[in-house]
Amino acid sequence: MSEIIEAAVVGAGMFGSAAAKHLSRAGVDVLVIGPAEPEAGASTSQHAFGAHFDEARITRRLGWDPVWGALDARSQDRFRDIEAESGIDFFHECGSLVLMARSIDHRTTAILRQCAAESIDVDRLSEQELRIEFPEFACLPMTGGVEGLLERKQAGYLNPRRLVQAQMTIAEAAGARLLRAAVTAVEKDERSGLWHLKVQADGQTRQIRAEKVLIATGAFTNENNVLPAGHRLALHAFTEPNLLFEVADGQLDQMRHLPTVVTVDPEDTGDENMSLYLLPPIQYPDGKWYMRIGPGMQPFVEELHTVDEMVGWYARQQVTPRQTASLTAMMRLLVPSLGPVAVRGAGCIIEKTPSRYPYIGHLADDPGITVAVGGNGHGARGSDEIGRLAASVLLGLPWDCPVPVETFAPLLQSAETRAGGRPAFLKPPFGLC
Ligand SMILES: Cc1cc2nc3c(=O)[nH]c(=O)nc-3n(C[C@H](O)[C@H](O)[C@H](O)COP(=O)(O)OP(=O)(O)OC[C@H]3O[C@@H](n4cnc5c(N)ncnc54)[C@H](O)[C@@H]3O)c2cc1C
Repeated sequence: MSEIIEAAVVGAGMFGSAAAKHLSRAGVDVLVIGPAEPEAGASTSQHAFGAHFDEARITRRLGWDPVWGALDARSQDRFRDIEAESGIDFFHECGSLVLMARSIDHRTTAILRQCAAESIDVDRLSEQELRIEFPEFACLPMTGGVEGLLERKQAGYLNPRRLVQAQMTIAEAAGARLLRAAVTAVEKDERSGLWHLKVQADGQTRQIRAEKVLIATGAFTNENNVLPAGHRLALHAFTEPNLLFEVADGQLDQMRHLPTVVTVDPEDTGDENMSLYLLPPIQYPDGKWYMRIGPGMQPFVEELHTVDEMVGWYARQQVTPRQTASLTAMMRLLVPSLGPVAVRGAGCIIEKTPSRYPYIGHLADDPGITVAVGGNGHGARGSDEIGRLAASVLLGLPWDCPVPVETFAPLLQSAETRAGGRPAFLKPPFGLC
C-alpha cells in the first residue's frame, strides 16, 4: 500500500468501527487497522485484546450524569437504524433495572429529573414493588434500603461483537477498508506533514502513510506505541473480573425474562461494597446459557501497571480467589434461588480517566492526530456517538454535541506520583457501569 490514506483509524474495536462508519459516510477514504479477535486463549499479542470480545454489554438511556447520559441516549436512539442498515442485529430490549441505595435519594431524584427532561420513560419502584415484579431478586444490603429505576423499553443489552461487525459492515459499504494488522509505531514526518504508521501482519512489517490518524486502541493505548514518542495519556487500566453462572435448563424460563441490573451502593466499604452489574441468561458461543456478574470498583478490582500484567491477565482468563469469593457472595445475595450447573471466571480490562469521561480530541493540539479512548468501563452503549464525535473532530467540523468539547479533552499523564491508594476519582460511588 504505497498510496496516501486520508484517514487511518487504529483499532477496529467499538470506538474505531463507529468512527470509521461516520468518516466513510462523510466521503473520507478510510483505512481501519486492527487485528481480528484471537481464538480463545490462543493469543499473547498485546495488540489483539479488546474489551468488546463478549456477548453482552448493558445498555440504557438513563444516565448517572448528564455527560454519559447524552452519549448513551444519542447512540442508543440509532441502534435500530444500525441494525436495519447493516442487516446485523445486536440490541436486546429486555429492560434495565438500576437499584439505588435509598441513602442517595438526591441522586435518584436528579437522575429522574434528567430522564424527564429527555423523555426517557422510567418507573421508580419501591422495595415492595420490586419484590412483586421480580421475585427472583432479593433485596441487597445497601444503606437505607433499596429502590429501583426500571426502563422497560429501549434498554437491555447489546452484543458488542455484533455491534462492531455491524459498524464495519456499514463502513465498508461506504468505502472504508479494513486491514487485519497491528500498528507498532506512529510518527509524524514533519517535512510532509504526513503520518507514518508501522504496521505488522503475518510476521511482515510495512509502512502506511496517512494525512490524519485516529487512535482508538482502548486500554492498551499507552502500551502499544500508537501515540507519538513522548506522549502518554492519563489512563488507568484495571482488571474487570466477571463470573459466568451456567443456568440449568430447568431455571432458564424463569430467569430469561429478567432485565439487566446495575446497583449503586454509595458506601466505600471495601470489598463488601454492593455495587455490581448482572446480565440475564445469555447464550454464549459454546451453546450454554450464562448469567454474568461483575463488580463496581471494589478494592479487589486491581490496577494493572505494566503491559506484562495486562497481557497476563487477559491471556490467563482466571479471576483471583478473592474476586471469586466476592462475586459469588454478591450473586447469592441478589439471586438466591439460582442453582448454577457450573461457574467460570472471565477476565477483561477497563480503563479509567481522571475526568471519568472518554477522551475525544486532538492529541497535544495537533489537528492531524485525534484520540477516542477511555470507555471507563461503560463505553459500549455510547460508542456510536463517541465515534461520531471523534470523526467530526478529525474532520474539523463544528462541535454539535450539547456537552462542551472541553469535557472530552485528552489529558496527558503527569509525572505526579500517587501515594496512599486510589485517588478520589477511582473510588465509589462509581455510578452506573
Ligand atoms: C467485563 C466488561 C464489562 C463491560 N460492561 C459494559 C457495559 O455493561 N456497558 C457498556 O456500555 N460498556 C461496558 N464495558 C466497556 C466497553 O466494553 C468498553 O468501554 C468498550 O469496548 C471500549 O471500546 P474501545 O473501542 O475503546 O476499546 P476496545 O473495544 O477494546 O477496542 C480496542 C481495539 O484496539 C485494538 N488495538 C489495540 N492496540 C492496537 C494496535 N497497536 N494496532 C491496531 N489495533 C490495536 C484492539 O485489538 C481492540 O480491538 C465493559 C467492559 C468490560 C471489560
